[in-house]
Amino acid sequence: MPRIVQKYGGTSVGDVERIKRVAERIKATRDDGNEVVVVVSARAGVTNELIARAKAVCPEPGEREMDQLLAIGEQETTALAAMALQGLGVPAISYTGGQAGIFTDKSHTKAKIKTINPRPIERDLKAGRVVIVAGFQGINEEGQITTLGRGGSDLTAIALAAALQADKCEIYTDVDGVYTADPRVVKNARKLPEISYDEMLELASSGSKVMQSRSVEFAKKYGVVFEVRSSFNHNPGTLVKEEVAYMEQVVVRGVAVDKDQAKIIVSNILDKPGSAAKVFRALAEANIVVDMIVQNVGRHGIANLTFTVPQTDTHKAVKSLEPVLDEVGGGQVAVHEHIAKLSVVGVGMKTHSGVAALLFQALADVSINIDLITTSEIKISVVIDQDRADEAARVAHAAFGLERV
Ligand code: ASP
Ligand code: MG
Repeated sequence: MPRIVQKYGGTSVGDVERIKRVAERIKATRDDGNEVVVVVSARAGVTNELIARAKAVCPEPGEREMDQLLAIGEQETTALAAMALQGLGVPAISYTGGQAGIFTDKSHTKAKIKTINPRPIERDLKAGRVVIVAGFQGINEEGQITTLGRGGSDLTAIALAAALQADKCEIYTDVDGVYTADPRVVKNARKLPEISYDEMLELASSGSKVMQSRSVEFAKKYGVVFEVRSSFNHNPGTLVKEEVAYMEQVVVRGVAVDKDQAKIIVSNILDKPGSAAKVFRALAEANIVVDMIVQNVGRHGIANLTFTVPQTDTHKAVKSLEPVLDEVGGGQVAVHEHIAKLSVVGVGMKTHSGVAALLFQALADVSINIDLITTSEIKISVVIDQDRADEAARVAHAAFGLERV
């Protein structure tokens, strides 16, 4: 019998009516002759609400208690989904992460899955039951509940699909799949029939996140092919898989815009070994994730460093730099928050030339000034004025003919 792992996100199980509709979908999958394992998230908003309550009783809640608390969001939806299935006459059983045999390391609130014991689920499948597993959680070797980091239900689903050698893995969400651009901004954006793991990861880090990135990395590592699709209709979604040769025929697969970054310039620092190391060590110690980094060519022993950080971390970043400025020979820090990062992504860039020229010309044609440029093997990113970001996405989308790929 074919085996399917399905994951339903928070909006798909957002209230009891929706849970009942999900149960019908699961029943239909089973009636088609499949073994079905289901992973569910907490109802949309519940995890945030629980975090807010934790902070209301204690400014810095301990991580073990945080996991005890956050795990209940998923426990609610698993039990309700199993009951809804039973109400439809389908034998079903709900499991916490630990009951499902998901073992993690010890690190609370961001645990890594170490092993999965497939026996409990195998036994239920053999007995004809649908198994509903709480996403986002596991158990460590001391028997403590752990959680896998925000968005971790995706990881639960991918890891279970690998451990159970599922024939199919479907990630149900509230969008139809992965698009060539945000359809709210680019009206003729198209849903992609397929995309490679690397393109999906680059798009996520560029501002169009459909899934938790760790789960996509995990899928790539273990070769889990999965489909991202909507639980609100029956449209086919986007297949995510390892890249194959023909995928390179398309130069650019998608365009993404990130308006949540800030640009920081550290100017007039000494152009000598150790300056950059000091600046970025200070940021690392403040736990700030730096995205783009550009250093200009030093002149007269003086250099400038420019980089971007999440806008929410701007203040923290500036504070963390203050103590090191003296060590790098003085220097000034300037912040620009009104920026946006536009990225074009595609594995075809590895084998096609002229991609950068085409993008820069398209922006030049509408007089959009480029501030910073960075590239990877399959991505070109530019920083531009935030007010023109949506327009830039539209012209880039058109320049690469993405409305008809
Ligand atoms: N409920 C968790 C969160 O909101 C896990 C998930 O939804 O994937 O992060
Ligand atoms: Mg979620």
